[in-house]
Amino acid sequence: VASVTFDVDFSSPSDAEDDRLLASALERFEGTVVLPTFLQAAGVGSHENLENLPIGILRERAFLGSVNVQTDPDGVMRHYGYGTVTGNVARPSLGALMAGKAGEIGRTFRIDGAIDPLTIPRVSVADIIAGRVSTEQLRGKNILIGATAIEMGDRYATPRHGVIPGVYIQALGAETLAQDRINEPLGPWPGLLVVLAVGLLVNGRRTVLAGLALLLGTVAGLQVLTFALESNFIGSPDVVPALAACVTFAGGTILIGFNARIRRSRLFDEATGLMNGRALEQHLSAAKTSSVMVASFRHFQETLSVLSADEQGHLFEKLIDRLRVARNDDSIYVLQPGMLAWPTSGDGLESMIDQAEALCAIFVSPIQLGGRAILLTPAFGIAERHRLSAAGALAAATLRASGASADGQRWSVHTEAAADAADRAVHLLADLESALADQQFWLAYQPKWSISAGRILGAEALIRWRHPVFGPIPPDEFIPLLEREARLHQLTIWVVARALTDLKDWHTAGHDLGVAVNISAPLLASGRFVDELLGLVREANLARPRLTVEVTESATINDSAQVIAALETLQAAGVLVSIDDYGTGQSTLTYLKSFPATEIKIDKSFVSRIADSIGDQVLVRSTIAMAHDLGFAVVAEGVEDSACLAKLTEYGCDTAQGWHIGKPLPVAEFMSLVEAPPAEERQAA
Ligand code: C2E
Ligand code: CA
Ligand code: CA
Repeated sequence: VASVTFDVDFSSPSDAEDDRLLASALERFEGTVVLPTFLQAAGVGSHENLENLPIGILRERAFLGSVNVQTDPDGVMRHYGYGTVTGNVARPSLGALMAGKAGEIGRTFRIDGAIDPLTIPRVSVADIIAGRVSTEQLRGKNILIGATAIEMGDRYATPRHGVIPGVYIQALGAETLAQDRINEPLGPWPGLLVVLAVGLLVNGRRTVLAGLALLLGTVAGLQVLTFALESNFIGSPDVVPALAACVTFAGGTILIGFNARIRRSRLFDEATGLMNGRALEQHLSAAKTSSVMVASFRHFQETLSVLSADEQGHLFEKLIDRLRVARNDDSIYVLQPGMLAWPTSGDGLESMIDQAEALCAIFVSPIQLGGRAILLTPAFGIAERHRLSAAGALAAATLRASGASADGQRWSVHTEAAADAADRAVHLLADLESALADQQFWLAYQPKWSISAGRILGAEALIRWRHPVFGPIPPDEFIPLLEREARLHQLTIWVVARALTDLKDWHTAGHDLGVAVNISAPLLASGRFVDELLGLVREANLARPRLTVEVTESATINDSAQVIAALETLQAAGVLVSIDDYGTGQSTLTYLKSFPATEIKIDKSFVSRIADSIGDQVLVRSTIAMAHDLGFAVVAEGVEDSACLAKLTEYGCDTAQGWHIGKPLPVAEFMSLVEAPPAEERQAA
């Protein structure tokens, strides 16, 4: 044989004769002899390791090889070493010596599982002794001698070949080395190249999918690479850095992709799948000149509420179908249920209005839905861009659409003038509080002239706002604004208090006068306001009814129950009630008969024209006659010249008010007018 290697413990002597015979046999042998050494704990429980060497007479003639092997933590034998350091001496492993391969002591390699232990020829010692083995069978071979008996306990679990004796581990280790089936570590670069390659394939896309592709692609790529390199015994790549890099990049990509997805989902209307207002705002921000159109469908929620979820979906589809006449559906955005919008870049105002009209015409016919006819009526809000921001334009168009819908109009356009007014309104509202505190408000008194008595019998108090920035602001601008915002309460109380104080002064000065104040109807529906007003009246302690509240004619129709109750309470407390702007509303005198009022004021639009318009003459005359029949006193407002006053005198009107009598004046000037001798023409009838 070429060499003999013993995996047999010769560290203690057997009988001297046998030991000597073996020693001399080794002496006679011309090939290589390898004997085992191994590390063993010095004693039970000892941490010190001792090297067990073959006994002296055997050791002299042989190479020493370490037989120490180490299972993995799971108890499975996978690796074999180049050698171990035992007692400060580096010993090559038995296998390394047999294969004639040297390697770094302490380094291990994977035993090649493809080598089947059964393919290693095995010869029983008993057969040799009995002469049953021919010398030819062994000639030139490397022989490994060891014990395989189960009783020895020297057995290890292997991944592929089950539990096998320790001597086979030595043989497989030697075979792996001899066949050069060892994968040297290749370092992290091959793995990192895979990450790079997959990264290039994903090509910088930052989506959840790209992130997952990067992760799965790299893991698969590393598997393939490792398999390819290892099965060809090129080497073992270190894939940990690659995995770490991949997890970092893929994780980042997934996170970014997820974020983007969430951001995108925020741009869609959940119910319809169309883009939402936020998306439209983004679009408008990018398209700086694009105007915007909003369609608001009347009673949309009510309509939906009687439909099943399926029907709602169908209705919406049909609605979008109709709107498609004007837009393709990917340019239609959903602001809220029943409110859709689209950008109209390049369309002029005319064409947007045409579009609105055309769509209104289409929606005149009801939508057929499973045998039901559903009428959806749109109202359009149009906002030209001008200086408006994206959000501003969208808000303006939305407001216009809601307004048009509420007012029963087909469309409404947001103009720059309206924008300025809205701007100013916002300022005025904000300034109200400080305006009251800074006494920016004052009352102008416009005389009321008694035609029959030929004297001034009182005044109407008209509010004035001297704004520090805007200058004088007409009440027609800020009264409706404050009324809409329910901010009139405090201001009106101030007017009444101021008027009553001035009235007291006039009485003290010996003038028998009355004063009229304008009360917005919604205030009368508030119990708190009426109480406060009555409080002021009681405090003033007037001798006779001298305070008149003017409520507009339209107030007699709207909110009537509460308003009527409030007016009755006021009348009971000695306050006179006058119906302002008579003729502009829909009420008839017969209707007003049952109304708690003592006076009507014919609106100036009729009065100022009676000199030239026969129609208005007839109207004013008959109104005066009828009002008298029903027990009302009649005031004509807007008397601008003597001809007008003459006609009113002829018709038997009780009281005249207007520029011809006197303009609204500051209280001192009003007093001068009262004290001045009566003008000629005012007396003339
Ligand atoms: P109104 O109650 O109908 O008041 C009469 C308006 O006609 C006043 O306008 C007055 O200046 C104007 N006027 C008087 N004589 C003539 C005339 O001969 N010809 C013409 N063309 N106009 C005449 P003003 O002061 O601007 O008030 C406008 C409206 O503001 C008032 O209409 C009233 O509805 C409201 N208003 C004024 N003060 C108050 C107030 O203290 N409270 C409330 N709620 N409303 C007020
Ligand atoms: Ca009035
Ligand atoms: Ca009036």
